[in-house]
Amino acid sequence: MKTIRLKPGKERSLQRRHPWVFDGAIAKGGGDPGETVRVDSAEGEFLAWGACSPNSKIRVRAWSFDQGQRIDAAFFRDALRRAIALRERMGIASNGLRLVHGESDGLPGLVVDRYGDTLVAQFGAAGVERWKDVIADALLELTGCPRLYERSDASARGLEGLPEVTGWLRGDGPTAFELEEHGWRLGLDIAQGHKTGYYLDQRDSRLALHDYAKRLKFAQVLNCFSYTGGFSVAALAGGAGHVTSIDSSGPALEQARENLKLNGLDLSRAAFLDADVNASLRQFVAEGRQFDAIVLDPPKLAPTAAHAERAARAYKDINRLAFKLLPPGGVLFTFSCSGGIGVELFHKIVASAASDADVDGAILQRLGGACDHPMTTAFPEGEYLKGLVVMKKL
Ligand code: SAH
Repeated sequence: MKTIRLKPGKERSLQRRHPWVFDGAIAKGGGDPGETVRVDSAEGEFLAWGACSPNSKIRVRAWSFDQGQRIDAAFFRDALRRAIALRERMGIASNGLRLVHGESDGLPGLVVDRYGDTLVAQFGAAGVERWKDVIADALLELTGCPRLYERSDASARGLEGLPEVTGWLRGDGPTAFELEEHGWRLGLDIAQGHKTGYYLDQRDSRLALHDYAKRLKFAQVLNCFSYTGGFSVAALAGGAGHVTSIDSSGPALEQARENLKLNGLDLSRAAFLDADVNASLRQFVAEGRQFDAIVLDPPKLAPTAAHAERAARAYKDINRLAFKLLPPGGVLFTFSCSGGIGVELFHKIVASAASDADVDGAILQRLGGACDHPMTTAFPEGEYLKGLVVMKKL
Protein backbone atom coordinates (compact mmCIF):
# COMPACT_ATOMS: atom_id res chain seq x y z
CA MET A 1 0.00 0.00 0.00
CA LYS A 2 1.41 3.39 -0.97
CA THR A 3 1.39 6.16 1.61
CA ILE A 4 1.06 9.90 1.13
CA ARG A 5 2.52 12.10 3.83
CA LEU A 6 1.03 15.55 4.39
CA LYS A 7 2.95 18.70 5.23
CA PRO A 8 2.91 19.82 8.88
CA GLY A 9 -0.39 21.46 9.87
CA LYS A 10 -2.28 20.11 6.83
CA GLU A 11 -4.09 17.30 8.67
CA ARG A 12 -7.02 19.34 10.03
CA SER A 13 -9.26 19.11 7.02
CA LEU A 14 -9.17 15.29 6.91
CA GLN A 15 -9.60 15.18 10.68
CA ARG A 16 -12.84 17.10 10.19
CA ARG A 17 -13.79 14.45 7.59
CA HIS A 18 -13.58 16.76 4.62
CA PRO A 19 -12.75 14.32 1.80
CA TRP A 20 -10.33 16.35 -0.35
CA VAL A 21 -6.53 16.56 -0.19
CA PHE A 22 -5.08 19.26 -2.46
CA ASP A 23 -1.67 18.79 -4.10
CA GLY A 24 -0.21 21.70 -2.12
CA ALA A 25 -0.86 19.90 1.19
CA ILE A 26 1.31 16.90 0.27
CA ALA A 27 4.93 16.56 1.46
CA LYS A 28 5.68 13.30 -0.32
CA GLY A 29 4.22 10.20 -1.90
CA GLY A 30 1.76 9.47 -4.67
CA GLY A 31 0.03 6.71 -6.56
CA ASP A 32 -1.46 5.67 -9.88
CA PRO A 33 -4.82 7.05 -11.08
CA GLY A 34 -7.55 5.68 -8.81
CA GLU A 35 -5.16 3.65 -6.69
CA THR A 36 -6.07 3.34 -3.03
CA VAL A 37 -3.50 5.13 -0.90
CA ARG A 38 -3.07 5.73 2.81
CA VAL A 39 -2.82 9.37 3.89
CA ASP A 40 -0.77 10.17 6.96
CA SER A 41 -0.13 13.38 8.85
CA ALA A 42 3.38 14.87 8.93
CA GLU A 43 3.86 12.97 12.20
CA GLY A 44 2.97 9.65 10.52
CA GLU A 45 -0.46 9.31 12.10
CA PHE A 46 -3.17 7.60 9.96
CA LEU A 47 -5.79 10.05 8.59
CA ALA A 48 -7.66 8.37 5.74
CA TRP A 49 -7.82 5.87 2.92
CA GLY A 50 -8.40 7.56 -0.39
CA ALA A 51 -8.14 7.36 -4.15
CA CYS A 52 -5.13 9.01 -5.72
CA SER A 53 -5.61 11.26 -8.73
CA PRO A 54 -2.13 12.22 -9.91
CA ASN A 55 -3.41 14.58 -12.64
CA SER A 56 -5.77 16.59 -10.45
CA LYS A 57 -5.26 19.46 -8.03
CA ILE A 58 -7.51 17.43 -5.74
CA ARG A 59 -4.81 14.79 -5.43
CA VAL A 60 -6.67 12.44 -3.07
CA ARG A 61 -10.38 11.93 -2.40
CA ALA A 62 -11.01 10.06 0.82
CA TRP A 63 -12.99 6.83 0.93
CA SER A 64 -12.79 6.28 4.66
CA PHE A 65 -11.42 7.79 7.85
CA ASP A 66 -11.45 4.42 9.62
CA GLN A 67 -8.08 2.70 9.67
CA GLY A 68 -9.72 -0.73 9.92
CA GLN A 69 -11.80 -0.24 6.73
CA ARG A 70 -10.81 -2.29 3.67
CA ILE A 71 -11.44 -0.55 0.37
CA ASP A 72 -12.83 -3.42 -1.68
CA ALA A 73 -15.98 -4.46 -3.56
CA ALA A 74 -17.86 -4.91 -0.27
CA PHE A 75 -17.00 -1.33 0.76
CA PHE A 76 -18.57 0.07 -2.43
CA ARG A 77 -21.60 -2.20 -2.22
CA ASP A 78 -22.23 -1.05 1.34
CA ALA A 79 -21.83 2.65 0.55
CA LEU A 80 -24.24 2.30 -2.40
CA ARG A 81 -26.72 0.34 -0.29
CA ARG A 82 -26.78 3.09 2.33
CA ALA A 83 -27.16 5.86 -0.25
CA ILE A 84 -30.10 4.06 -1.86
CA ALA A 85 -31.72 3.26 1.50
CA LEU A 86 -31.56 6.96 2.44
CA ARG A 87 -33.59 7.88 -0.66
CA GLU A 88 -36.12 5.12 0.01
CA ARG A 89 -36.88 6.74 3.35
CA MET A 90 -37.50 10.13 1.76
CA GLY A 91 -40.59 9.18 -0.23
CA ILE A 92 -39.76 11.41 -3.19
CA ALA A 93 -42.74 12.36 -5.38
CA SER A 94 -41.10 11.49 -8.70
CA ASN A 95 -40.03 8.53 -10.82
CA GLY A 96 -36.68 10.29 -11.35
CA LEU A 97 -34.32 10.79 -8.44
CA ARG A 98 -30.69 11.00 -7.44
CA LEU A 99 -29.47 7.82 -5.77
CA VAL A 100 -25.84 8.81 -5.23
CA HIS A 101 -24.59 12.36 -4.78
CA GLY A 102 -20.80 12.02 -4.79
CA GLU A 103 -18.91 13.26 -1.75
CA SER A 104 -22.14 13.69 0.24
CA ASP A 105 -22.69 9.93 0.00
CA GLY A 106 -19.07 9.02 0.74
CA LEU A 107 -18.40 8.20 -2.92
CA PRO A 108 -16.38 11.16 -4.25
CA GLY A 109 -16.93 11.83 -7.93
CA LEU A 110 -19.87 9.44 -8.39
CA VAL A 111 -23.32 10.60 -9.42
CA VAL A 112 -26.12 8.11 -10.05
CA ASP A 113 -29.63 9.11 -11.05
CA ARG A 114 -32.55 6.74 -11.50
CA TYR A 115 -35.14 7.33 -14.23
CA GLY A 116 -37.76 4.61 -13.87
CA ASP A 117 -35.84 1.35 -14.28
CA THR A 118 -32.90 3.01 -16.03
CA LEU A 119 -29.83 4.19 -14.14
CA VAL A 120 -27.59 6.98 -15.39
CA ALA A 121 -24.13 7.36 -13.85
CA GLN A 122 -21.32 9.90 -14.01
CA PHE A 123 -17.86 8.70 -13.01
CA GLY A 124 -16.23 12.06 -12.34
CA ALA A 125 -12.97 11.17 -10.58
CA ALA A 126 -10.10 8.70 -10.94
CA GLY A 127 -11.19 6.66 -7.89
CA VAL A 128 -14.69 5.79 -9.03
CA GLU A 129 -13.36 5.31 -12.57
CA ARG A 130 -11.06 2.57 -11.29
CA TRP A 131 -13.94 0.84 -9.46
CA LYS A 132 -16.45 1.34 -12.29
CA ASP A 133 -17.28 -2.32 -12.93
CA VAL A 134 -17.72 -3.13 -9.26
CA ILE A 135 -19.98 -0.08 -8.85
CA ALA A 136 -22.04 -0.85 -11.97
CA ASP A 137 -22.65 -4.47 -10.93
CA ALA A 138 -23.59 -3.49 -7.38
CA LEU A 139 -25.99 -0.80 -8.62
CA LEU A 140 -27.91 -3.23 -10.84
CA GLU A 141 -28.08 -5.77 -8.06
CA LEU A 142 -29.20 -3.32 -5.37
CA THR A 143 -31.82 -1.52 -7.47
CA GLY A 144 -33.05 -4.38 -9.68
CA CYS A 145 -32.68 -2.05 -12.67
CA PRO A 146 -31.67 -3.91 -15.85
CA ARG A 147 -29.70 -1.11 -17.48
CA LEU A 148 -27.19 1.60 -16.75
CA TYR A 149 -26.19 4.44 -19.08
CA GLU A 150 -22.87 6.18 -18.57
CA ARG A 151 -22.76 9.99 -18.89
CA SER A 152 -19.13 10.59 -17.98
CA ASP A 153 -19.03 13.78 -20.02
CA ALA A 154 -18.95 16.43 -17.28
CA SER A 155 -16.09 18.95 -17.46
CA ALA A 156 -14.65 17.65 -14.17
CA ARG A 157 -13.41 14.55 -16.05
CA GLY A 158 -10.92 16.76 -17.90
CA LEU A 159 -9.45 18.04 -14.61
CA GLU A 160 -8.92 14.42 -13.61
CA GLY A 161 -7.18 13.61 -16.90
CA LEU A 162 -10.01 11.25 -17.89
CA PRO A 163 -11.53 11.11 -21.40
CA GLU A 164 -15.27 11.60 -22.00
CA VAL A 165 -17.26 8.37 -22.12
CA THR A 166 -20.96 8.01 -22.89
CA GLY A 167 -23.09 5.00 -23.74
CA TRP A 168 -24.68 1.90 -22.24
CA LEU A 169 -22.46 0.37 -19.58
CA ARG A 170 -24.92 -2.41 -18.66
CA GLY A 171 -27.95 -3.54 -20.72
CA ASP A 172 -29.54 -1.22 -23.23
CA GLY A 173 -32.87 0.37 -24.09
CA PRO A 174 -34.50 3.65 -25.09
CA THR A 175 -32.85 6.89 -23.96
CA ALA A 176 -36.09 8.90 -24.08
CA PHE A 177 -37.90 9.06 -20.74
CA GLU A 178 -41.01 10.65 -19.32
CA LEU A 179 -40.44 12.02 -15.85
CA GLU A 180 -43.47 12.22 -13.58
CA GLU A 181 -42.90 14.89 -10.97
CA HIS A 182 -45.59 16.37 -8.71
CA GLY A 183 -48.10 14.85 -11.13
CA TRP A 184 -46.59 16.66 -14.15
CA ARG A 185 -45.09 14.91 -17.16
CA LEU A 186 -41.70 16.09 -18.40
CA GLY A 187 -40.03 14.51 -21.43
CA LEU A 188 -36.25 14.17 -21.43
CA ASP A 189 -33.45 12.16 -22.98
CA ILE A 190 -30.76 10.61 -20.81
CA ALA A 191 -28.22 10.61 -23.67
CA GLN A 192 -28.82 14.17 -24.92
CA GLY A 193 -30.15 16.08 -21.91
CA HIS A 194 -28.07 18.22 -19.58
CA LYS A 195 -26.36 16.51 -16.62
CA THR A 196 -27.84 12.98 -16.58
CA GLY A 197 -30.86 14.16 -18.57
CA TYR A 198 -32.57 16.60 -16.24
CA TYR A 199 -32.24 19.11 -13.40
CA LEU A 200 -33.60 16.83 -10.71
CA ASP A 201 -32.06 19.12 -8.08
CA GLN A 202 -34.68 21.83 -8.79
CA ARG A 203 -37.66 19.55 -8.05
CA ASP A 204 -38.71 21.28 -4.81
CA SER A 205 -38.21 24.75 -6.28
CA ARG A 206 -40.49 23.91 -9.22
CA LEU A 207 -43.15 22.93 -6.70
CA ALA A 208 -42.52 26.15 -4.75
CA LEU A 209 -43.12 28.23 -7.90
CA HIS A 210 -46.30 26.27 -8.59
CA ASP A 211 -47.56 26.97 -5.07
CA TYR A 212 -46.76 30.69 -5.24
CA ALA A 213 -48.48 30.89 -8.65
CA LYS A 214 -51.56 29.36 -7.06
CA ARG A 215 -51.58 31.73 -4.08
CA LEU A 216 -50.50 34.95 -5.79
CA LYS A 217 -52.21 34.38 -9.15
CA PHE A 218 -49.35 35.62 -11.36
CA ALA A 219 -50.67 37.04 -14.63
CA GLN A 220 -47.31 37.27 -16.43
CA VAL A 221 -44.34 34.99 -15.65
CA LEU A 222 -40.85 35.18 -17.15
CA ASN A 223 -38.79 31.98 -16.99
CA CYS A 224 -35.15 32.83 -17.78
CA PHE A 225 -32.73 30.01 -18.64
CA SER A 226 -35.79 27.83 -18.99
CA TYR A 227 -34.08 24.74 -20.49
CA THR A 228 -36.97 22.34 -21.21
CA GLY A 229 -39.52 24.42 -19.35
CA GLY A 230 -39.82 22.69 -15.99
CA PHE A 231 -40.56 25.99 -14.22
CA SER A 232 -42.89 27.01 -17.06
CA VAL A 233 -45.00 23.87 -16.62
CA ALA A 234 -45.01 24.45 -12.85
CA ALA A 235 -46.21 28.06 -13.18
CA LEU A 236 -48.92 27.27 -15.73
CA ALA A 237 -50.11 24.23 -13.77
CA GLY A 238 -50.38 26.58 -10.79
CA GLY A 239 -52.68 28.84 -12.78
CA ALA A 240 -50.31 31.52 -14.08
CA GLY A 241 -51.90 33.50 -16.90
CA HIS A 242 -48.99 33.50 -19.31
CA VAL A 243 -45.37 32.30 -19.27
CA THR A 244 -42.48 33.49 -21.43
CA SER A 245 -39.59 31.00 -21.52
CA ILE A 246 -36.15 32.18 -22.64
CA ASP A 247 -33.23 29.92 -23.46
CA SER A 248 -30.36 30.04 -25.94
CA SER A 249 -30.91 26.39 -26.90
CA GLY A 250 -33.44 25.77 -29.66
CA PRO A 251 -33.79 22.01 -28.95
CA ALA A 252 -34.41 22.75 -25.24
CA LEU A 253 -37.23 25.14 -26.18
CA GLU A 254 -38.70 22.54 -28.59
CA GLN A 255 -38.82 20.11 -25.66
CA ALA A 256 -40.33 22.84 -23.47
CA ARG A 257 -43.15 23.24 -25.97
CA GLU A 258 -43.63 19.43 -25.99
CA ASN A 259 -43.70 19.41 -22.20
CA LEU A 260 -46.51 21.97 -22.09
CA LYS A 261 -48.49 19.82 -24.54
CA LEU A 262 -47.82 16.66 -22.51
CA ASN A 263 -49.53 18.36 -19.58
CA GLY A 264 -52.49 19.56 -21.60
CA LEU A 265 -51.49 23.18 -21.06
CA ASP A 266 -52.77 25.83 -23.42
CA LEU A 267 -49.95 26.92 -25.75
CA SER A 268 -51.63 30.28 -26.26
CA ARG A 269 -50.61 30.99 -22.66
CA ALA A 270 -46.94 30.51 -23.57
CA ALA A 271 -44.18 32.25 -25.53
CA PHE A 272 -40.75 30.79 -26.26
CA LEU A 273 -37.76 33.01 -26.98
CA ASP A 274 -34.58 31.51 -28.42
CA ALA A 275 -32.37 34.34 -27.19
CA ASP A 276 -29.67 35.52 -24.83
CA VAL A 277 -31.19 36.22 -21.40
CA ASN A 278 -28.98 39.25 -20.73
CA ALA A 279 -29.95 40.94 -23.99
CA SER A 280 -33.65 40.07 -23.53
CA LEU A 281 -33.74 41.49 -20.00
CA ARG A 282 -32.16 44.73 -21.21
CA GLN A 283 -34.66 44.93 -24.05
CA PHE A 284 -37.62 44.33 -21.71
CA VAL A 285 -36.38 47.07 -19.38
CA ALA A 286 -36.06 49.46 -22.33
CA GLU A 287 -39.59 48.57 -23.44
CA GLY A 288 -40.97 49.09 -19.93
CA ARG A 289 -42.32 45.52 -19.70
CA GLN A 290 -43.30 44.03 -16.35
CA PHE A 291 -43.66 40.47 -15.05
CA ASP A 292 -45.39 39.40 -11.83
CA ALA A 293 -42.92 36.56 -11.34
CA ILE A 294 -39.45 36.02 -12.78
CA VAL A 295 -37.33 32.87 -12.55
CA LEU A 296 -33.57 33.28 -12.93
CA ASP A 297 -31.82 29.90 -13.02
CA PRO A 298 -28.57 30.50 -14.91
CA PRO A 299 -25.93 27.87 -15.67
CA LYS A 300 -22.99 27.45 -13.34
CA LEU A 301 -21.14 30.76 -13.66
CA ALA A 302 -18.52 30.01 -10.99
CA PRO A 303 -17.53 26.33 -10.90
CA THR A 304 -14.93 27.10 -8.19
CA ALA A 305 -14.15 29.92 -5.78
CA ALA A 306 -11.48 31.18 -8.23
CA HIS A 307 -14.23 32.28 -10.63
CA ALA A 308 -16.36 33.86 -7.91
CA GLU A 309 -15.53 37.52 -8.51
CA ARG A 310 -16.35 37.63 -12.22
CA ALA A 311 -19.37 35.43 -11.71
CA ALA A 312 -20.62 37.68 -8.90
CA ARG A 313 -20.75 40.61 -11.34
CA ALA A 314 -22.68 38.50 -13.88
CA TYR A 315 -25.17 37.32 -11.23
CA LYS A 316 -25.63 40.84 -9.94
CA ASP A 317 -26.30 42.19 -13.40
CA ILE A 318 -29.08 39.76 -14.30
CA ASN A 319 -30.66 40.09 -10.87
CA ARG A 320 -30.59 43.89 -11.09
CA LEU A 321 -32.31 43.80 -14.48
CA ALA A 322 -34.88 41.30 -13.23
CA PHE A 323 -35.72 43.49 -10.21
CA LYS A 324 -36.38 46.38 -12.61
CA LEU A 325 -39.00 44.28 -14.41
CA LEU A 326 -41.06 43.55 -11.27
CA PRO A 327 -44.13 45.60 -10.37
CA PRO A 328 -44.75 46.18 -6.63
CA GLY A 329 -45.76 42.77 -5.24
CA GLY A 330 -43.88 40.98 -8.05
CA VAL A 331 -41.70 38.02 -7.04
CA LEU A 332 -38.20 37.02 -8.12
CA PHE A 333 -37.15 33.35 -7.88
CA THR A 334 -33.39 33.60 -8.19
CA PHE A 335 -30.85 30.77 -8.13
CA SER A 336 -27.15 30.02 -8.26
CA CYS A 337 -25.81 26.51 -8.82
CA SER A 338 -22.18 27.64 -8.53
CA GLY A 339 -20.15 25.73 -5.95
CA GLY A 340 -17.80 28.74 -5.89
CA ILE A 341 -20.51 31.12 -4.58
CA GLY A 342 -21.57 30.43 -1.02
CA VAL A 343 -25.01 31.12 0.45
CA GLU A 344 -23.89 34.32 2.17
CA LEU A 345 -22.22 35.71 -0.94
CA PHE A 346 -25.27 34.90 -3.06
CA HIS A 347 -27.48 36.68 -0.56
CA LYS A 348 -25.19 39.75 -0.73
CA ILE A 349 -25.18 39.74 -4.53
CA VAL A 350 -28.99 39.66 -4.67
CA ALA A 351 -29.26 42.35 -1.97
CA SER A 352 -26.90 44.64 -3.83
CA ALA A 353 -28.74 44.01 -7.14
CA ALA A 354 -32.01 45.00 -5.44
CA SER A 355 -30.44 48.15 -4.05
CA ASP A 356 -29.04 49.14 -7.47
CA ALA A 357 -32.51 48.63 -8.98
CA ASP A 358 -34.06 50.75 -6.19
CA VAL A 359 -36.10 47.81 -4.99
CA ASP A 360 -36.92 47.12 -1.37
CA GLY A 361 -37.21 43.32 -1.27
CA ALA A 362 -38.93 41.05 1.21
CA ILE A 363 -37.23 37.65 1.29
CA LEU A 364 -40.14 35.21 1.41
CA GLN A 365 -38.14 32.00 1.36
CA ARG A 366 -34.74 30.41 0.88
CA LEU A 367 -34.59 27.48 -1.52
CA GLY A 368 -32.02 24.76 -2.10
CA GLY A 369 -31.37 21.44 -3.77
CA ALA A 370 -33.92 18.65 -3.33
CA CYS A 371 -33.33 16.20 -0.48
CA ASP A 372 -31.93 13.47 -2.73
CA HIS A 373 -29.01 15.86 -3.34
CA PRO A 374 -28.02 16.04 0.33
CA MET A 375 -25.52 18.40 1.87
CA THR A 376 -23.35 17.11 4.68
CA THR A 377 -21.79 18.84 7.62
CA ALA A 378 -18.31 17.71 6.53
CA PHE A 379 -18.57 18.89 2.92
CA PRO A 380 -19.93 22.45 2.59
CA GLU A 381 -19.18 22.42 -1.16
CA GLY A 382 -22.17 20.07 -1.42
CA GLU A 383 -24.42 23.10 -0.92
CA TYR A 384 -23.93 24.23 -4.52
CA LEU A 385 -27.55 25.11 -5.30
CA LYS A 386 -29.21 27.97 -3.47
CA GLY A 387 -32.16 30.16 -4.24
CA LEU A 388 -34.09 33.11 -2.86
CA VAL A 389 -37.72 34.07 -3.29
CA VAL A 390 -37.85 37.87 -3.08
CA MET A 391 -40.98 40.00 -3.30
CA LYS A 392 -40.71 43.64 -4.36
CA LYS A 393 -42.44 45.47 -1.54
CA LEU A 394 -45.77 47.12 -2.21
N1 SAH B 1 -34.24 26.04 -15.01
C1 SAH B 1 -33.91 24.83 -15.74
C2 SAH B 1 -32.41 24.58 -15.81
C3 SAH B 1 -31.59 25.72 -16.37
S1 SAH B 1 -30.05 25.21 -16.95
C4 SAH B 1 -34.69 23.65 -15.15
O1 SAH B 1 -35.19 23.75 -14.02
O2 SAH B 1 -34.77 22.62 -15.80
C5 SAH B 1 -29.40 26.60 -17.72
C6 SAH B 1 -29.97 26.88 -19.10
O3 SAH B 1 -29.46 28.14 -19.51
C7 SAH B 1 -29.56 25.92 -20.22
O4 SAH B 1 -30.72 25.39 -20.81
C8 SAH B 1 -28.78 26.76 -21.24
O5 SAH B 1 -29.12 26.43 -22.59
C9 SAH B 1 -29.27 28.14 -20.91
N2 SAH B 1 -28.37 29.27 -21.18
C10 SAH B 1 -27.06 29.39 -20.87
N3 SAH B 1 -26.62 30.63 -21.14
C11 SAH B 1 -27.67 31.33 -21.63
C12 SAH B 1 -27.86 32.68 -22.06
N4 SAH B 1 -26.86 33.56 -22.04
N5 SAH B 1 -29.08 33.05 -22.48
C13 SAH B 1 -30.10 32.16 -22.50
N6 SAH B 1 -29.99 30.89 -22.08
C14 SAH B 1 -28.79 30.47 -21.65
